[in-house]
Amino acid sequence: MSAYKFAIHGGAGTIEKHMLSPEQELAYLNGLQSALEKGKTILSNGGTALDAVEQAVILLENNPLFNAGKGSVFNHEGKHEMDAAIMDGKNLKAGAVTCISNIRNPIELARKVMDESEHVLLSGAGAESFAKMKNMNFESDTYFHDEYRFDQWQEIKNTNKTQLDHTEKKFGTVGAVALDIHGNLTAATSTGGMTNKRWGRIGDTPIIGAGTYANNQTCAISCTGHGEFYMRAVVAYDISCLMEYKRLSLKEACDLVVMQKLVAIGGEGGLIAIDKYGNLELPFNSAGMYRGWCDDANMETAIYSE
Ligand code: ASP
Repeated sequence: MSAYKFAIHGGAGTIEKHMLSPEQELAYLNGLQSALEKGKTILSNGGTALDAVEQAVILLENNPLFNAGKGSVFNHEGKHEMDAAIMDGKNLKAGAVTCISNIRNPIELARKVMDESEHVLLSGAGAESFAKMKNMNFESDTYFHDEYRFDQWQEIKNTNKTQLDHTEKKFGTVGAVALDIHGNLTAATSTGGMTNKRWGRIGDTPIIGAGTYANNQTCAISCTGHGEFYMRAVVAYDISCLMEYKRLSLKEACDLVVMQKLVAIGGEGGLIAIDKYGNLELPFNSAGMYRGWCDDANMETAIYSE
């Protein structure tokens, strides 16, 4: 048996102390805290890393502060199109969904794709039919309507711009990574993508190896940032490969990819990572990242860079 470790994120980007009121700051920290507690309860009772990441992400999806599930941003057509992925490091099984609408918890659907279909990635109407067949919870458009996100969209809907959540440079995707006492690593990520996105744009989140990856031999990774760059840099898999083939430590691999390779191509954001020994890294090259982690003895949440 190993000790468990758990980490979550609620997005990275230009998040600076002066931008949040004390009340807003507290609301974000509380949202992170309850997701952490959810994961901790599961892991400390001998539950699986898969359940821990799924259940924590469900809580974050249900929290309108984060750009996933209920809080998803508006696309160019004024709708919400969501992406999510989950991966099991024990057997490299993965499930993902992209461009889905009206599903209450996209991460739950990603898990069903992994556990109950022979596929890895389902999209749009097809994914929604699969969800109906599995009796998943659907919600009306009003469930996903948030005045704040609506205003963000109104500002740019007649332009060709896509915008990252909240400000030009803020990414509100959510994610979780876990190592359970059975030695299994898992990762889960969920997002509404970018405000005013169109043409069926898909980011890194549901792309296995880009925004989400887990392998018991190396590490579990969940990313948040400008998805186009994360896909081009194949961020999550690159970190795993640097550990597997070049024998880099988790820290060395994360530093190289987030602080050097991504920066070199202009990719802003961060990620959360745990390796098979329970080492933890929460690197970001942006001003801040909503994040938290816990193990048996500690629990911490943070927003800004130290
Ligand atoms: N990575 C996400 C995307 O590009 C955005 C985010 O992290 O908030 O869709």
